[in-house]
Amino acid sequence: MGQLSALPVLYVVDHEAVSLDVLLADLSRRFGSGFTVRGETSSEAALVALQEMAATDVSVALLLVDDADADLLAQAHELHPRAKRVLLVDRDYSSSSPAVQAMALGRADYHIVRPWADDEMMYGPMSDYLFSWIREQEPNFELFRIVAADGDSRVLQLRDVMTRFGMPFAIYPVDGEAGRGLLHEAGLDASRLPVVVRYDGHTIIDPSLPDLARAIGVNVTNDVDTCEVAIVGAGPAGLTAAVYAASEGLDTVMLEEEVSGGQASTSPLIRNYPGFPHGVNGGVLMERTCEQAWLMGAHIVFAQQAVALERQGEQRVVHLRDGTELRARAVVLATGIEWRRLGVPRLEALVGSGVFYGAAVGESRAMADQDVFIVGAGNSAGQAAQHLAKHARTVTLLVRGESLAKSMSTYLIRAVESTPNVVVRNHTEVVDGSGAGSLESLTLADRASGAVAEVAADAMFIMIGGEPHTRWLPDDIARDAQGYLITGRDVLDQPATPWTYQREPLTLETSMPGVFAAGDVRQGSIKRVASAVGEGATVVRMVHEHLRAYELDPAVRAG
Ligand SMILES: Cc1cc2nc3c(=O)[nH]c(=O)nc-3n(C[C@H](O)[C@H](O)[C@H](O)COP(=O)(O)OP(=O)(O)OC[C@H]3O[C@@H](n4cnc5c(N)ncnc54)[C@H](O)[C@@H]3O)c2cc1C
Repeated sequence: MGQLSALPVLYVVDHEAVSLDVLLADLSRRFGSGFTVRGETSSEAALVALQEMAATDVSVALLLVDDADADLLAQAHELHPRAKRVLLVDRDYSSSSPAVQAMALGRADYHIVRPWADDEMMYGPMSDYLFSWIREQEPNFELFRIVAADGDSRVLQLRDVMTRFGMPFAIYPVDGEAGRGLLHEAGLDASRLPVVVRYDGHTIIDPSLPDLARAIGVNVTNDVDTCEVAIVGAGPAGLTAAVYAASEGLDTVMLEEEVSGGQASTSPLIRNYPGFPHGVNGGVLMERTCEQAWLMGAHIVFAQQAVALERQGEQRVVHLRDGTELRARAVVLATGIEWRRLGVPRLEALVGSGVFYGAAVGESRAMADQDVFIVGAGNSAGQAAQHLAKHARTVTLLVRGESLAKSMSTYLIRAVESTPNVVVRNHTEVVDGSGAGSLESLTLADRASGAVAEVAADAMFIMIGGEPHTRWLPDDIARDAQGYLITGRDVLDQPATPWTYQREPLTLETSMPGVFAAGDVRQGSIKRVASAVGEGATVVRMVHEHLRAYELDPAVRAG
């Protein structure tokens, strides 16, 4: 093989010699000025070469491996964890394609299909993948520097806020030289932490969420008294409603109690959002949607919780945490739900790459011959176990309590118990996990004996329930037993909140006319990003309908 150089390497493994030669020639022509292009036809020889490169600190930017040996990507990843992993596969659209499993389990970052009809199909994506590698190598300009004590739980929130607003930042331990230097420059000691230092020297000590949002430069006070539509919650449903409402000329205000993005922005990789075959970072997707809503003309207020809602004749009044109020002719409630989180940092970092919150049906084929775990003991966990067991080698249900009997229906318990490849582990808690790029192992604690064991794991589905954000709403907005908002014709079946309005409730309308619900907070919602986005877009159509009826018919106005 050729001479090693200081240039990063683009390494190709194609088990067909003719195809490899063509690829190496083409890739060298296109990327040879910035990368050394090398390759092999055998997995064994490739591994030896990759080992040599790792031993001599040669940086590998990208591995392009054909599907004759998809496992090679995993081995190569251990040697070159920062290299982008691209699988070269046939375009057969079959569910047994190696690409399906590799992507689902986070064992490949991208795929390229062959044959490629034109250069754009091959070299366009390759440029993007290489560019994303280059971007990751460049040191970030730090707009914010955070000095914190080791293990300070506030760091998690600071990290979350910075990430959600796309702010480059770095954390400096207070006992390190750089951390001490930053405090010294700011004239502070370590008695109150964390300290956040902005690029211009502005310093905030132990910041609250509004302090932080203000330092980032976003709006945290509402200076608008009235609007046509008030949207509460800036997750996928609320943000999409804001994009559509503002773009269709409605005077729109959106209130968010934290920062934008909702649950979706806590997922490092959303794999099922249409149009992103390699997945999309939830924070990035939401940040872009937020920018779009803003540029369409929505007025967005962060760190401002809606604490009450009331109907005053034709107006709907939203009361804010800071004591101010916002009057609107229609309100969209897109406040979502709070899933219980596992709270294990190393596993949270692998969400989307072997670790999943919620239902498993869509991923079940990709779990063929894998060892899969489900955390939870409810009916949804039981149903997921049944689905996954059709394809996975083993499915282990991890149950905190003594048994499934308290939380799962008897018919499902029977089904689970009679499926040979499903195992139930009672009084078991997930306390840690690991994986380089994708999940590899879980650490399980037996709550009865105290024993702790590490087990190999290919995927874990977390199904431990959640609660909708609806406690703040008045009693005349009907909810089901779990707190989800009832909408559409179902409103007519609620004796406690009789519907007396001039027209029938619209599909996404709650029992308070002119107040709508979209996304996870709605009874019967699908609990997916795309469905929340769909409801966010749909609800605006109904807001228009409500406002039009209001304009045309004085009887409706009298409501
Ligand atoms: C870790 C994780 C991974 C996920 N992965 C996927 C995935 O891969 N694919 C997928 O399709 N789905 C995924 N989901 C589910 C998906 O994110 C949700 O279905 C979706 O975000 C719901 O959108 P929403 O707008 O209805 O609500 P949410 O995203 O919950 O947003 C609601 C917003 O309202 C705000 N809010 C609440 N109460 C108030 C109030 N009183 N005043 C002001 N603001 C308020 C909240 O702060 C929040 O920002 C995942 C969820 C989690 C938690």
